[in-house]
Amino acid sequence: MEKELTRATVDPKYTWDLTRIYASDEAWEAAFADTKAKGEEIAALAGTLAGSKEAVLAALTMENELEQALSCIYTYAMMKTNEEMTVSRYQAMLGRAGTLVSEIMAKGAFLTPELLSIDEETLKSYIADPDFSDYDVRLTKTLRMKPHTLSAREEQLLAMAGEVCGASENAYDMLTDADMDLGKTRGEDGKKAKLTDARLNTFLISRDRAVRKAAYTNVMNGYGKLGNAIAALYAGQVKGDIFNAQARGYKNCRESYLYRDDVAESVYDSLIEAVHGGVGTLCEYLRIKKEQLGLPHMHMYDMYLGVDTGFEISMGIEEAFEAFLEAVKPLGEDYVADASRALPDRWIDVYETQNKRGGAYSTSVHHTAPYVLLNYKPTYDGLSTLCHEMGHAMHSFYSNKTQVSAKADYTIFVAEVASTCNEILLSEYLLKKYEGNRAAQIMLIGHLLEHFRTTVFRQTMFAEFEHKAHKMAEDGQSLTKDNLSDMYYDLNKLYYGGAVKVDKEVRYEWMRIPHFYSSFYVYKYATGFCAAVALARGILSGDADKLAAYRKFLTLGGSMTPIEELKVAGVDMSTPQPVSEALDYFAELVMTYSQLLSEEAANKAEA
Ligand SMILES: [Zn+2]
Repeated sequence: MEKELTRATVDPKYTWDLTRIYASDEAWEAAFADTKAKGEEIAALAGTLAGSKEAVLAALTMENELEQALSCIYTYAMMKTNEEMTVSRYQAMLGRAGTLVSEIMAKGAFLTPELLSIDEETLKSYIADPDFSDYDVRLTKTLRMKPHTLSAREEQLLAMAGEVCGASENAYDMLTDADMDLGKTRGEDGKKAKLTDARLNTFLISRDRAVRKAAYTNVMNGYGKLGNAIAALYAGQVKGDIFNAQARGYKNCRESYLYRDDVAESVYDSLIEAVHGGVGTLCEYLRIKKEQLGLPHMHMYDMYLGVDTGFEISMGIEEAFEAFLEAVKPLGEDYVADASRALPDRWIDVYETQNKRGGAYSTSVHHTAPYVLLNYKPTYDGLSTLCHEMGHAMHSFYSNKTQVSAKADYTIFVAEVASTCNEILLSEYLLKKYEGNRAAQIMLIGHLLEHFRTTVFRQTMFAEFEHKAHKMAEDGQSLTKDNLSDMYYDLNKLYYGGAVKVDKEVRYEWMRIPHFYSSFYVYKYATGFCAAVALARGILSGDADKLAAYRKFLTLGGSMTPIEELKVAGVDMSTPQPVSEALDYFAELVMTYSQLLSEEAANKAEA
């Protein structure tokens, strides 16, 4: 086995260059001290805002300066920590950065209520005033929250209740990360192996069905054993949501969450409705997959198994980077030219090194080029992850370049659009490149279909679950292990029942989804994916207007509401159309997939 790389042995040209943020840790310390002192200055502005335009402008400017400074301080410490998680120096810096963020947020907390105490006409005149052009979004958002903002004393009480409302999530994390013991399961070698939630996925891709079944059943039942406690914790989360929604005068919990993004509840409903319309195609896909895997029946624990086509993409990072640049060519020459700087200019921390954070992400601060963390492996997944993270990075690159710092950060609702769009461009590029290579086509389309299943169908099913659970509680029902599990089981029947034996253990699966403690969040994965599909297809159609609209979208940052930004890009998420279009694409892919597999079978029969 190759010797594991460390920060000392990895070639610096494959690491990210953090000196763009701070030349040294000493420079970070200086910025830290400077920002801490500035925090005192903002606190001193409390009580000065009423009736003076200059005072409001000064406070907003200082708030933004502090936010930018804190973003640099925190991001640098986080990235340094992620390079090698065991270095106590950086752990300490990250801890201090977190504390400084809370301290300064507390010092600036007077700002929003004080702005809201200014009469509405005056605030509106500021929003229209060119002197406030950097802060119009900040003011618009604040004004928007006015109907749901309470008196200073009441806000204080709600803030105090916040920690109580977060208790369920903390307890759930402790229970599932630390206390839970899922016991052992039989591995491929016949020996008992320790089972954890994180390891389930490696068992589920085992070619040995007994291994998949045992691991799956053990995990689900392991959660089921704690089902009464987990249901009580989730009920606590939902009750907290009801408390907040009612205290702030929202119609219901869902509205209270969607309101922040200015997303209408109809967007959520039409997502579910459109996805229900695609369930028939999902089941058709799963039936094809069952045939292909040679299974008499498809069970829940068979669904994650990939099909081995004998084709794998294996590129070193340089070659993968070239493939990425080829794949995004439809986005325009200048996009390719800008993106091509990422590897030579060291935006990317490429390889796994000892104690480096796992996974992949992209992050940025306003005044420098973005950063990407990878743990690159020469596989198709590695290449696809590179394209995904570069999608985020280029979205940040153009937004940071175009928008002032106060308006550059995009919301979660639009965040996965650029990354998914790049993944789809990659698939389409490779499908062309390997035209006539059936194994390659089957592998590539198979990946896309799984992406659809796990992002559009599965996340929408989750979204439906949490919506139903909140409604049950809002209607006065108590949430229990049994009624939540029954409801989750019925949803699985609805989505998968046409093709899969819905094993009874799946009823407990909702218990292992930590996202349910970030309420009404997962639907954004599904809408983002569908928007990206619609946009990628528009770009690939060669329509110059569609491309221009998408490129404009990449520059918008957080300067508009997410739904408005997507309208600029060319998709209207307030209608079911983009979701339906994405599902049409899914149906086309299923048809092509089925054809390829029949050809493959005929070919094998001949040979
Ligand atoms: Zn992403």
